[in-house]
Amino acid sequence: MSPHVLILGGTAEARELAAVLAARPGVRVTTSLAGRVTRPGALAGDVRVGGFGGAAGLAGWLREQHVDAFVDATHPFAETITANAAQAAAASGVSAVVLRRPGWQPDPEDRWHLVTSLGAAADALPRFGSRAFLTTGRLGLSAFAHLTEMHFVVRSVEPPEPPVPPHTEVLLARGPFTVADETTLLREYLIDVLVTKDSGGEATAAKLTAARQLGLPVVVVRRPPLPRGVSAVPNVAGVLAWLGFNS
Ligand code: NAP
Repeated sequence: MSPHVLILGGTAEARELAAVLAARPGVRVTTSLAGRVTRPGALAGDVRVGGFGGAAGLAGWLREQHVDAFVDATHPFAETITANAAQAAAASGVSAVVLRRPGWQPDPEDRWHLVTSLGAAADALPRFGSRAFLTTGRLGLSAFAHLTEMHFVVRSVEPPEPPVPPHTEVLLARGPFTVADETTLLREYLIDVLVTKDSGGEATAAKLTAARQLGLPVVVVRRPPLPRGVSAVPNVAGVLAWLGFNS
């Protein structure tokens, strides 16, 4: 029987993994999306959309759909689904692995200020500047909404969810971005501080290089820790090895 692999998706790595697995003869692959993005783009293999109804719902789905192994390839900041995945693996007995791209590492010339939440980023922000470039995603901007004296430039794929700070300009764009583009943006909007989550990956790293070259401070929100006891691999090759497939 063909093995059925479920991928919890929403990232570039999940898309890449689906393509690699779907191209392998005899493997059935299903990607699960939360349904937050209106046009998620084509994915290889089967796709299902929407929440499972918590860890118990996911465990039930794994059993009903005869899933043999599943990969949590969600975003490093998608904390709830990652906790649910770990619980569902334990409850169902289906093997699971987390595909988590490595976080960014600072260069000696970087002016990073590390914080553990968006709220802590908002607390720190006024110390560093008055015109902030926010690249923390379209959700969670309420953490900055009380900063009425600051000017924000927010970049997200889809329009941000209110409440947002009163002085906010929105730029709708999807990476990858180049260092030249990011440098132009930081200069054009007179940005004096950048705020980012430590999402990792190449597609959105150029802003960090641009900030370094311009000598700008960066408030970096650290990743939430992985649930205890879960196995994690850094890339698609690691998942293939974990599944016992040759890359
Ligand atoms: P979250 O807070 O961890 O999850 C909230 C709920 O959404 C989960 O409890 C689950 O609902 C549902 N869900 C999340 N991911 C799912 C998936 N792949 N398939 C089915 N249901 C899913 O997640 P989030 O931070 O809102 O992120 C939602 C999705 O966007 C994730 O798939 C993530 O990979 C992607 N994403 C997130 C970020 C970010 O910064 N957080 C950035 C880029 C992409 P039930 O409990 O009902 O199962």
